[in-house]
Amino acid sequence: MPRALYLEDSYLKEFDAEVVSVKDEKFVVLDNTGFYPTSGGQPFDTGKMICDGKEYPVVFVGKFDGAISHQVEGAGLKAGDKVHCVIDWDRRYKLMRMHTAAHIFMQVLHNDCGALGTGNELGVDESRIDFSLDNYDPEQMQAYIAHANEVIAQDLPVSVDFKTREEAMQIPGITKLAKGLPEHIQDVRIVSIGDFDVQADGGTHVHSTKEVGKIVFVKAKNKGKGRKRAYFRVD
Ligand SMILES: [Zn+2]
Repeated sequence: MPRALYLEDSYLKEFDAEVVSVKDEKFVVLDNTGFYPTSGGQPFDTGKMICDGKEYPVVFVGKFDGAISHQVEGAGLKAGDKVHCVIDWDRRYKLMRMHTAAHIFMQVLHNDCGALGTGNELGVDESRIDFSLDNYDPEQMQAYIAHANEVIAQDLPVSVDFKTREEAMQIPGITKLAKGLPEHIQDVRIVSIGDFDVQADGGTHVHSTKEVGKIVFVKAKNKGKGRKRAYFRVD
């Protein structure tokens, strides 16, 4: 497994790497990468690889068989090539703001009305969170959003820690999530938003909540008994 640089430094915008393999002239595996592969509801990064002055746009990044594969446009890269990589920062930074916003919004719903998160799908323009809640008053949604924006305005620090599985299981509120981790995962990445929220998470986040800006409620949807979905933007 190549080193996933984004797990340690979500603000890494450029990096150097060596090509490990190329399949079908377009699927490139690097020895380390800062490109985020689609996972955990956060979409892939785009950007480019530069080798000997030639640019190869990166149009998709995914995890396949334990490897992070970059789909590039233009043939020519081969194993052993040294590449300089540049991440499309506008896209990534928007997704980081969205990801931190989603954690705050979900935790507010949990605190205010006992909702439990069941999934999220982040986007550059609009994101959604899915949650379970029986007694749901759509009129309340604006109040929840206002509460989330109060949390953001506190400018809480967002930090990333790596803990052993044993340590992670001791954290209140994380147990349920940590239980869902595959048995072989012994190092758990923990994302904390001040003392407000702590979660086992593999995504990229901003350093402080004020970077999120402001959460704007778009719409809510009823997905059946107890299943709800809310769409939001960040401005
Ligand atoms: Zn997350």
